Amino acid sequence: MCASPHRTMSSSFPKPPPLAALWGASAEQWYDPTWQLQHCCRSEDDLQRVLNLTQSERRALRGVGRRLDVCVTPHFLSLMDPADPADPLRLQVIPRSEELETHPEEMRDPCAEERDEKVPGLVHRYPDRVLLIVTDRCSTYCRYCTRSRIVSGAAGHGRHIDWEAVLAYLREHTEVRDVLLSGGDPLLLADERLDAMLSDLRTIPHVELLRLGTRVPIMLPRRVAPHLCATLRRHAPLFVSIHCNHPRELGSEAQRALGLLVDHGLPLGNQSVLLRGVNDRTEVQLALAHRLLQCRVRPYYLYQCDPVPGTRHFRTDPHVGVDMIAAMRGYTSGYAVPQFVIDAPGGGGKIPLNPHYVVGEEDGKLLLRNFRGDLFRYPTSF
Ligand SMILES: *Cc1c(COP(=O)(O)O)cnc(C)c1O
Repeated sequence: MCASPHRTMSSSFPKPPPLAALWGASAEQWYDPTWQLQHCCRSEDDLQRVLNLTQSERRALRGVGRRLDVCVTPHFLSLMDPADPADPLRLQVIPRSEELETHPEEMRDPCAEERDEKVPGLVHRYPDRVLLIVTDRCSTYCRYCTRSRIVSGAAGHGRHIDWEAVLAYLREHTEVRDVLLSGGDPLLLADERLDAMLSDLRTIPHVELLRLGTRVPIMLPRRVAPHLCATLRRHAPLFVSIHCNHPRELGSEAQRALGLLVDHGLPLGNQSVLLRGVNDRTEVQLALAHRLLQCRVRPYYLYQCDPVPGTRHFRTDPHVGVDMIAAMRGYTSGYAVPQFVIDAPGGGGKIPLNPHYVVGEEDGKLLLRNFRGDLFRYPTSF
C-alpha cells in the first residue's frame, strides 16, 4: 500500500533468467535496455564466462574482429543452451573459424547497394520506394549480415547518413511513396531522434508509407517500451519488419515486445534468412511461422543467405528454400508461408523463387498442380 513508485515498478518485472546471476544483475538491471547494451559480450573473455567455447569459436573470436564486431546482448545469450555448440541461436551470432575463409562467389556489397546509393545513406533501387541506412549500429551482430561492410563501424568514421540531402532527394522525387528505415538497427536511435526523423519524412506529402526494419524486439526486447511505441504510432501508417530465424528466439520477452508494437497499431512482418544448421529444416520453418503468428507477426520474406565474405558455411542450395515453401504451402495457414527470395547479386533486387504450380499449357488450358501434386486444367481465354 505504501510502496514507492520504484518498488511498484520492480515488482512488475518477471524473474530474470538464471544467467543474470553471472553479472549479479537485479531484475531492474536485467530488464533495463541500457544495462543490456552496457553488458554485451564482445570478446573471447566475455563469452567464455557464458558458453563452453569450441576451438573453432576461439580461433574466430581472435581473428574476426577487423571485419565485423562480435557483440551479443545478455538477453539473447540467456536463450541459448550453453552446452550445445550447435545451438541455432548461437550459430547466428558467435563466429566460427569458417568465417575467416572467403570464397570466389563472395562480395563485400553483394546486392550492389553502393551503386544505387543516390545520396549518402539513401538507396533507391525500386521505382516507388527507398531504403535509408540510418545507423551502422546493432544491439547484436549476426555473422551472416548482408551489410557487414558497413555495420559495427566497419566503414570507419566516414559512414553517416546525410539527412538534409536525403530530405532534399525525397522532396524532389515525387515517385517515392514508401520509405524504409534500416541500418544497422534504427531502434538503437533515441526516441527523440527517431521522432525527429519520422516527423521530417511526414512533411513530404507523397511519402505515404513508412517502414522500419529492426531486430531489437528479439535481441533487446525491453527497448520496446510504451514511449517508443507511442512515438512510432504518431507516424502511422508505419509497418515494422522484424528479423527472426528460429522459434526459440520468440520467448516471453520477445512476445511482450511484439504484442506492445501490435497493440499500438503497428503491423508486423518478419524477414528471416535461410541458414544452414539454424532453420534449414521444414519442421523448424513451420514452428517459426506458427510461433510468429502467435506473436501476431506475419512471415514476409525468407531470404537466401547473401554471399558476403565468410558466410559460405551458412548458405544452402537455393532448391532447399523452394522445397521448403512447397512443403508449407497448402499444408498450413497461408498467412504462415513467407515468400522465398534471392536478392540478386549485382543489384538486380529481390527475385521470388516459387515451386512450379503452373506445369504447362495445352489446348488453350493451363495445366496446374496443387500442393499435393494433383493436376488440374483451367481455361486461359473467355
Ligand atoms: C528490400 C528492399 C526494399 C523493400 O523491398 P520490398 O519488396 O518492398 O519489401 C527497398 N529498397 C531496397 C534497396 C531493398 O533492398
